[in-house]
Amino acid sequence: MLQDKDRIFTNIYGQNDWRLTGARQRGDWADTAAILARGRDAIINEMKASGLRGRGGAGFPTGVKWSFMPKNSDGRPHYLVINGDESEPGTCKDREILRHEPHKLIESALIASFAMGAHAAYIYIRGEFFNEARHLQIAIDEAYAAGLIGKNAAGSGWDFDFYIHRGAGAYICGEETALLESLEGKKGQPRMKPPFPAAMGLYGCPTTVNNVESISVASTILRRGATWFSSLGRPNNAGTKLMAISGHVNTPCVFEEELGVPLKDIIEKHGGGVRGGWDNLLAVIPGGCSVPVLPKAICETVLMDFDSLRAERSGLGTACMIVMDKSTDIVRAIARFSQFFKHESCGQCTPCREGTGWMMRVMQRMVEGRAELEEIDMLEQVTRQVEGHTICALGDAAAWPIQGLIRHFRPVMEDRIRAYKAAHGGGQITQVP
Ligand code: NAD
Ligand code: SF4
Repeated sequence: MLQDKDRIFTNIYGQNDWRLTGARQRGDWADTAAILARGRDAIINEMKASGLRGRGGAGFPTGVKWSFMPKNSDGRPHYLVINGDESEPGTCKDREILRHEPHKLIESALIASFAMGAHAAYIYIRGEFFNEARHLQIAIDEAYAAGLIGKNAAGSGWDFDFYIHRGAGAYICGEETALLESLEGKKGQPRMKPPFPAAMGLYGCPTTVNNVESISVASTILRRGATWFSSLGRPNNAGTKLMAISGHVNTPCVFEEELGVPLKDIIEKHGGGVRGGWDNLLAVIPGGCSVPVLPKAICETVLMDFDSLRAERSGLGTACMIVMDKSTDIVRAIARFSQFFKHESCGQCTPCREGTGWMMRVMQRMVEGRAELEEIDMLEQVTRQVEGHTICALGDAAAWPIQGLIRHFRPVMEDRIRAYKAAHGGGQITQVP
């Protein structure tokens, strides 16, 4: 379990001053020029050595991603783009950084931009985050006024500008290439990858897109060192992570914890335990709603990190878990996610546009039990046709929760179908949407 001395976000609950004076007291902006003076390669190598993996959900190594930015770009500007379009259901961790630790983000954005040869960073903030955007703008204004960003940022000799762009409510704009399209003023539809943004990103220029938390931890890692960061967590799952617990726990919250801690301990310590006690637990979705649900038996032992959850055929995702007790209608809960993905699909590729509609409609019948037993396998086949056959990860995200439901809760679905038949005199289901 994480000790206070290793906490990165020491003002995550806004208990102290979030503005420049308070941030400086907590160590932000302390000799930033000295970090930049180490040079681009040294900074990127330190980030690689730290083992930091992307905190937005996919877990791609951050230092490696930074190293993809070209050294020579034929005069094209480089950009850092920060993904603050936090829209994953159950996920509200970056919001706390924007509210209470905005200077950690701005200072780290300067360092990251310098390391990647970028003189400008854009942050794309979820449109609903009005107060968060306001806090960040105040902090940006403070940083400009203090000479920490702008010309000769923090006395480093590097010019750096930081801009806020506010989204307009589309979940898909959190997908990195849809975000770039939206930032360019176009419809937010994902691009095919490759080319990855480092080769062709914003306005066709080399760009790195990082999550708010991935960027915000950089200044602390560079101050305290890669060895300190990688000593926390487990091999290949290094460091601390902002996590959240929502749903049927006694104290839903956002908190910072070391990776690799048992999920059960996290629920007990931070969530105050499952409502009605641990035995009342039905299932947990460990990160947002894009990863498969896990039943209680797996939650007893699984560790909260990328590799442990992957081994259980789920994923860490955003590490913002949704806890469901035995009062939950698990089929209905997953059907609600299907409705969400259907609504948020941009409609650009056929397997996702058509598949999310199919999955939603069959799931809606499964909630009632108005289906044939064979349709459970058919539904699974539809998810397999969508998974891996789409332009962006939304198709996978729509398929995986259903696969998890069928894997772990098939008997619940079957019982419901049998109960419906029994109540309606048996026979073949003829009326399907
Ligand atoms: P991804 O695995 O396709 O990519 C992750 C990152 O690594 C991207 O920046 C990508 O450009 C980079 N990358 C991957 N392979 C690369 C390569 N070969 N060369 C260069 N760069 C490479 O995943 P994704 O679609 O960016 O993200 C999916 C995840 O997002 C899901 O796991 C989900 O948990 C999460 N998510 C988060 C939110 C949120 O609100 N935070 C919302 C929706 C989804
Ligand atoms: Fe759009 Fe869905 Fe295709 Fe992604 S997978 S590009 S959201 S249609």
